[in-house]
Amino acid sequence: MITLFAKAKINLCLDVVGRLPNGYHEVRMIMQTVGISDKLTFEKTEGEIRITTNKGELPLGEDNLIYKAAALMKETYGISGGVSVALEKHIPIAAGMAGGSTDAAATLKAMNELYELGLSEEELRKLGVKLGADVPYCVMGGTALSEGIGEVLTKLPPMPKCVLLVAKPDINVSTKYVYETLDSKEIPVHPKVDEMISKIEEGDVRGVAALLGNVLENVTVERYKVVDEIKQVMLRAGAQGSLMSGSGPSVFGIFERADLAQTAAEEIRRLGLANEVFVTEPV
Ligand code: ATP
Repeated sequence: MITLFAKAKINLCLDVVGRLPNGYHEVRMIMQTVGISDKLTFEKTEGEIRITTNKGELPLGEDNLIYKAAALMKETYGISGGVSVALEKHIPIAAGMAGGSTDAAATLKAMNELYELGLSEEELRKLGVKLGADVPYCVMGGTALSEGIGEVLTKLPPMPKCVLLVAKPDINVSTKYVYETLDSKEIPVHPKVDEMISKIEEGDVRGVAALLGNVLENVTVERYKVVDEIKQVMLRAGAQGSLMSGSGPSVFGIFERADLAQTAAEEIRRLGLANEVFVTEPV
């Protein structure tokens, strides 16, 4: 039996720099793991892939990314055995925090161990891209620059120490809608990804906070004002910077003081802007 904690991510920068003929978006993103995790417990089975979870709304069959990851490992390496997975979900679902991708990455790692395949992290990353653009990063974790469609990863030094407040409003945002709407427009401002990397290298948390940028944010905010409302609460409460993560609707704020982050969290809950609110940190 193996237990793994699969962590969520936020995007400090998310830029779209091109579109490939197959419709995929070429991105430049700075990814950061945060201390919000799902707990997954894996056990070998005779051949079946079985998933149980505390979250009723998640699919448990072939549509679950855990299932897809396990099936891919079985098929690629000719494993006759299977896996049973107990998923304790804490990461907000469909939130822009790579919840499904991080579970898939954990499943690749667990199958590697359970069946003693001896695969390197790089091999698992290569396999991961078949499951989704964020999966290779989730295999790696930490602070990283993600390019291409998400498969070209460069490790960065850790993000400077800070407190992160993450809030997921109770709305469903379709990633497909967000990217399609973005495609129909010019991108007015691109985030300064390379400058952000310098600020991370310098350990300059205020510099990082000042350069947060996500080209998908305007698209989502236009339709879902609550995303901007949460940002404004965080900034008024003393956040150095605040941004939507991925295609949303989760919003995070960078704070230098935990008490200010706590106050902002209470205010967000009091105003009914989000139910899922976490005070956490970069990992
Ligand atoms: P990303 O940031 O990579 O775009 P996300 O946080 O927006 O991901 P997920 O939480 O991964 O989105 O969920 C997207 C969809 O995937 C959900 O509608 C959900 O039903 C489905 N899904 C399949 N497997 C899982 C899983 N293990 N955990 C969460 N969602 C899953």
